[in-house]
This record gives sequence, structure tokens and C-alpha cells, in this order.
Amino acid sequence: MPIYEFRCQQCGTRFEERRAMRDSDAPASCPAGHAHAVRLLPVFATTGHAAPDASGCGAGGGCCGGACGAA
Ligand SMILES: [Zn+2]
Repeated sequence: MPIYEFRCQQCGTRFEERRAMRDSDAPASCPAGHAHAVRLLPVFATTGHAAPDASGCGAGGGCCGGACGAA
């Protein structure tokens, strides 16, 4: 059974829950009892790309095409 990571929107606590895949989108409650935790995207492959902040471009940084005011 996969483990999903959640983050509470109220207190910011990160926690993990082991649950069935069909329940992956079900609401989760954080350890402090808040009801609105959001599921974080699973991080599978971290290889193949350097850290996005290394170049500032090419990894979805939003600065491509001169939109960031660098002229
Ligand atoms: Zn919380």
C-alpha cells in the first residue's frame, strides 16, 4: 500500500499516511486535527534534471522568454 504525503493548509505540518490507492484523493486530517490537508505530489524520479534554480530557465521557472523583466 503506497504512502502519501500530505501538508496541512492550516498549520503547515507535513505528514504521511498509508492508504489504498483508491483513497489517495480522500481528505486527510493532520495530526493536530485540522481537516484541510492537501496531498503533495509524489516525487518519483529526481534524476535527469539539475535543480531548477541552477540556471533559472528551462525547468518551469517561469522566466523563459524575457517575461521576468531582464529585458
Ligand atoms: Zn494542521
